[in-house]
Amino acid sequence: MADHSYDYDVIFIGAGPGGYVGAIRAAQLGLKTACVESRETLGGTCLNVGCIPSKALLHGSEKFAEAVNGTLARYGVKLGKVELDLAALQADKADAVKGLTGGIEFLFKKNKVTWLKGHGSFKDAHTVTVGGQDYTAKEVVIATGSRVTPLPGVEIDNDKGIIVDSTGALALDRVPKHLVVIGGGVIGLEMGSVWRRLGAKVTVVEFLDQLLPGMDGDVRKEAGRIFKKQGLEIRLSTKVTGAVVKGKTATLTIEPAQGGDPETIEADCVLVAIGRRPNTEGLGLENIGLELNARGQIETGPDFRTSVDGVRAIGDVIPGPMLAHKAEDEGIAVAEYIATGTGIVNHEVIPSVVYTMPEFAGVGLTEEQARERAAASGSEIKVGKFAMLANSRAKTNHEPEGFVKVIADAETDRVLGVWAIASVAGTMIAEAALAMEFGATSEDIAYTCHAHPTHAEAMKEAAMAVQGKPIHM
Ligand code: FAD
Ligand code: NAD
Repeated sequence: MADHSYDYDVIFIGAGPGGYVGAIRAAQLGLKTACVESRETLGGTCLNVGCIPSKALLHGSEKFAEAVNGTLARYGVKLGKVELDLAALQADKADAVKGLTGGIEFLFKKNKVTWLKGHGSFKDAHTVTVGGQDYTAKEVVIATGSRVTPLPGVEIDNDKGIIVDSTGALALDRVPKHLVVIGGGVIGLEMGSVWRRLGAKVTVVEFLDQLLPGMDGDVRKEAGRIFKKQGLEIRLSTKVTGAVVKGKTATLTIEPAQGGDPETIEADCVLVAIGRRPNTEGLGLENIGLELNARGQIETGPDFRTSVDGVRAIGDVIPGPMLAHKAEDEGIAVAEYIATGTGIVNHEVIPSVVYTMPEFAGVGLTEEQARERAAASGSEIKVGKFAMLANSRAKTNHEPEGFVKVIADAETDRVLGVWAIASVAGTMIAEAALAMEFGATSEDIAYTCHAHPTHAEAMKEAAMAVQGKPIHM
């Protein structure tokens, strides 16, 4: 495709999972590719201050909790006094981030992707300015990601470490005595779990009447029960209206979501985790006449083209779930569209996982969405559910919480959605995504041989339960 009137065939702005994966794919397909990134390291939010560091702390804190709460003792592991070395845990996290971000730099070199270091902005639709220098490309892909949504009246200052966003919550050098998490979504529950396990009192303040919006109703209800049992205090249907910091203490004013008498809570750490918003400021979008939708996102067509010729967009900056694997798949697809004219992302089958213990995972429609769609089209659905308590491996491992739920069309039996709560639900859900991608019926899953004893057998049993005939329940 090389067009010598441009410096590059394609420039990606942003080296997160969308931009870096897209750039590598584009280079693999023979395009002369550059990627602009202003951070010191590649990998975007996900590798630097998102997926990877949060999973390092979740994994490490789980090990600490196993030592403290008697889980290891049950297996005959005799321990002396268990103490936390938070600096060591943070060092392990930093090591994981360093290794993986360095790995992307290696992959850029290997695939001959040029890293244009600095902040990128549009001069025109085919010219991106980085550090005062102009670079031209036939196609420019915006992959600038997202940042935390601010909450008016609750000012984030990660340096002080009292009111923080997820980046600050990942970097604390102390275990808070009382952490208040504003927002009972994915970040709130993952980071709340980390600091709860390490010894903090944790209060989650959630505006809605359930945790984890977007997930299946049964899953959300069960999440509330499980996190309460783990010692998190959950304040549903409650909003924070302001915060005052004095010394090392924050005083939050909260009130019922629909209005009512205010009360105050004190905390030595507050995490604001009420969602994320796209990064579009300072990109020079006004220079190319690209407008944002009401949610501040860039709208695209199926081939990720924006309304401006030669400019495409992927990842957190466009509508859809703000997930690393969605951004990655869009990165691959946009590169393939540019190089070959075709590409594919099935936005109906994007799994989502909350990496707590147990994990909460799902793909496809929730039961509520499936019922609503069925009612609108005059069809019906069938639901099969199997409790992890009846799964031999989960029972042996003392992991009784959770279930797998398979939702299928009553007439065609085609799987519409799968939800799971289990210690390894994030891994289990890959099977459901694959099945749905192949248009599987619940019977297809039920008649697929699953290794014994594995948590995954619960998926088979839930599929059998769609026909009302699980074996072990
Ligand atoms: P980003 O990863 O945000 O990357 C965009 C990059 O562009 C950034 O590095 C930024 O510096 C750069 N940039 C922006 N503007 C410019 C500019 N003008 N010039 C140059 N560079 C620019 N998702 C999951 O799927 N699984 C998880 O477990 C998970 N955990 C998360 C935990 C936390 C705490 C957070 C905050 C997020 C988590 N996410 C997770 C979400 C995930 O990180 C994002 O969905 C993903 O990173 C989006 O990828 P992206 O490429 O669109 O953008
Ligand atoms: P979220 O949308 O998951 O949750 C935000 C929560 O805050 C919601 O429950 C919402 O009802 C609540 N809320 C909004 N305003 C509020 C207010 N004023 N007071 C109290 N509660 C309020 O967002 P998040 O947890 O900030 O995560 C941001 C994004 O990052 C998500 O889209 C998520 O997909 C992604 N992420 C993914 C993972 C993962 O895949 N495991 C992990 C972390 C983050």
